Amino acid sequence: MSAKKKVLVVGLGIAGMAAAVRLHGIGWEPLIVERAPARRAGGYFIGLFAEGREAAERLGVLDSITRENPVGSRTWEVGSDGGRMRSVGFLDQPGEPRGVLRGDIEAALWDRVRDVIAVRFATSPEAINSLPDYARVALRDLATGEVREESFDLVIGADGLRSSVREQAFGPNEKYMRPFNAIVCAFALNEQVPNLADRDGIVLAEPGRSLWVFPFGDRPPTALLTYRTKNENAEFDRPPIETLRERYAGVDGDGAIGHVLEELENAPDFLFDSVHQVKMDTWHDNRVVLVGDSAWCLTLYSGMGATAGLLGADALGAALEKHPESINAALTEWEEGLRPFIKKHQFAAQIKSQVFVPSNVALARVRRSVMRKQGKKRRIELEDSTMAPAA
Ligand SMILES: Cc1cc2nc3c(=O)[nH]c(=O)nc-3n(C[C@H](O)[C@H](O)[C@H](O)COP(=O)(O)OP(=O)(O)OC[C@H]3O[C@@H](n4cnc5c(N)ncnc54)[C@H](O)[C@@H]3O)c2cc1C
Repeated sequence: MSAKKKVLVVGLGIAGMAAAVRLHGIGWEPLIVERAPARRAGGYFIGLFAEGREAAERLGVLDSITRENPVGSRTWEVGSDGGRMRSVGFLDQPGEPRGVLRGDIEAALWDRVRDVIAVRFATSPEAINSLPDYARVALRDLATGEVREESFDLVIGADGLRSSVREQAFGPNEKYMRPFNAIVCAFALNEQVPNLADRDGIVLAEPGRSLWVFPFGDRPPTALLTYRTKNENAEFDRPPIETLRERYAGVDGDGAIGHVLEELENAPDFLFDSVHQVKMDTWHDNRVVLVGDSAWCLTLYSGMGATAGLLGADALGAALEKHPESINAALTEWEEGLRPFIKKHQFAAQIKSQVFVPSNVALARVRRSVMRKQGKKRRIELEDSTMAPAA
């Protein structure tokens, strides 16, 4: 009997765990390395679309993602003066996304990983030599500083937007990261914003800055602040809360902005980052392949990053299962099959970014008018469904 193929998976996020679970399922021996000293939890709102749910089902984790979505939730478009109109929320869009926390998907995958797949925390690749038949990787233990060289049949870089694997195997990150000239801050709220029903959401979208509040059925909502900027680097000169207070100065949204910034000040965990897409001509080279944000980061505006990470990891496993004798053939077929999906959503993200945060006054007006129409339609649909006779 031939020995099991060894795969190094870099990154314990959605894409990395999904890839490890899938490859373990077809008889490979994965080792996951994660830079952080422990597994993260919580996170921000994520809409999981059909393609992601189907991949999650194939990976055996869909039923463990149990987050409740709000029933009869309304989304309000709030003006900076506090005025409100009915609008449509993230979950009202076509494709029927399901609202979860990033941590919900990661926790479900972790249940499949722990006990059966080797995980080394506080470990990061320092150098990767990708050869036609194997990859030689220097792995650094970040706690002790010790570096150990190991060989693998395949290295999967699932280490996110600022990927070390990409840098070591494909070249500097600046070559691949395309800035959107925007910043995002996302975190979980402890309490609903003032003057809003528990299961309702709001959107405050001004030219260049916006706030979204995403409700859940079984926990308080999460908040997303996103704004446009000409100089991303300057946004990191001060603590995020100071930067955000300045960027959202003069806007109140019926108390929503004040509430969210106050909660942010005491939030144990939040994301504050610049927004980039990753564009690469190829995602694989010899025995290294990238999957998830490290390969194609779609951005939060696409609403498809987690879906694409699950789908990409599952498809990678399927291709390797189909071509047990040729890893190269598997990677080539996998990439050809997945590229049209990624290309479509990278393009869509450019347009959807205007829904999340319009760049200027004219686009903000267009956006508001579209949202007003959609909101009316949604209200009528909801009223119709509540008036419909029971079957
Ligand atoms: C605010 C926001 C909202 C979003 N909304 C949606 C949505 O509605 N729908 C959707 O589908 N997607 C959404 N996304 C995108 C989605 O969250 C990401 O695409 C997805 O989580 C990326 O997963 P990943 O595993 O590829 O990367 P990551 O989640 O970035 O995980 C990478 C992992 O690698 C580790 N790592 C990094 N460097 C190293 C290293 N050198 N060595 C070892 N480990 C390393 C990191 O610590 C991390 O654990 C959203 C994103 C944001 C920011």
